[in-house]
Amino acid sequence: MKEANWYKTLEDGKVECFLCPRKCLIADGRTGFCGVRKNTGGKLFSLSYGYPQALQIDPIEKKPLSHFMSGTKTFSFGTFGCNLACVFCQNHHLSRAVYREKQPYQYFPPEQIVELTLKHNCASLAFTYNEPTVFAEYAIDVAKLAKEKNLATVLVSNGYITMEAAKDFYPLIDAANIDMKGFSEEFYTSMTSAHLQPVLDAIKYLHTLGKHVELTNLVIPGKNDSMEMLDAFLDWAEKEINRDLPIHFSAYHPDYKYDESPRTPPVTLYALRDRALKRGFTRIHLGNVW
Ligand code: SF4
Repeated sequence: MKEANWYKTLEDGKVECFLCPRKCLIADGRTGFCGVRKNTGGKLFSLSYGYPQALQIDPIEKKPLSHFMSGTKTFSFGTFGCNLACVFCQNHHLSRAVYREKQPYQYFPPEQIVELTLKHNCASLAFTYNEPTVFAEYAIDVAKLAKEKNLATVLVSNGYITMEAAKDFYPLIDAANIDMKGFSEEFYTSMTSAHLQPVLDAIKYLHTLGKHVELTNLVIPGKNDSMEMLDAFLDWAEKEINRDLPIHFSAYHPDYKYDESPRTPPVTLYALRDRALKRGFTRIHLGNVW
């Protein structure tokens, strides 16, 4: 197991993890909310370091990134665990997977991930599938080696990270797609067990660093598809980024614990796109249109 960064040990033997805004207090022998960071004897360890559960070569457009190194392939990998608890999670087989000590996971050191990327002629490496924040130590080590080989690095993330960790992680990223799940605090607390503001801070920080940023918004009927919410989101994006920010409105389907909303009808996505275009946003994309 790899000792984690971004934690401190408290007098009672608990540790406080400050990799993400949840700031879990973790007792000895227990893991944090994400399930992959464990307190062992007053030290915090990353359980998923070196253990990818999904490795795949994807077109970069699939991340989705529509305006970065178009036409190239990206070597994509993810581990398991997540620091959000979205009731509608479309990737719960990885996000809610737990580490099993007796399971013989195959170890992939960072060097091997970079070697595989080069071997398969991929121009970039993508941290994706589950939430990369929870395996940030691994992603950082892979990214540093990738930079030495002139490979680009891609982050596909929920953006729920502290500034302390983002300052160590995001400078190593070239392009990111951040999942902005719904532009209201009420949506974040009720549907994801998290908060909106840290996500907005992360997006802004990536932009401030000069990184290529695209956003994805999974549109759930009756939950985050109102024109009022869209306008508030676009007001923020226009003020803090600009109207060339690529935004992907993506259709939802019932999954995991949530089936109270129907699949997103195409007409909803078309209406959101038309409103954004009318307001002067230039790079609006639709995903998973049925
Ligand atoms: S990264 Fe995991 S253990 Fe750390 S604060 Fe977030 S949810 Fe808790």
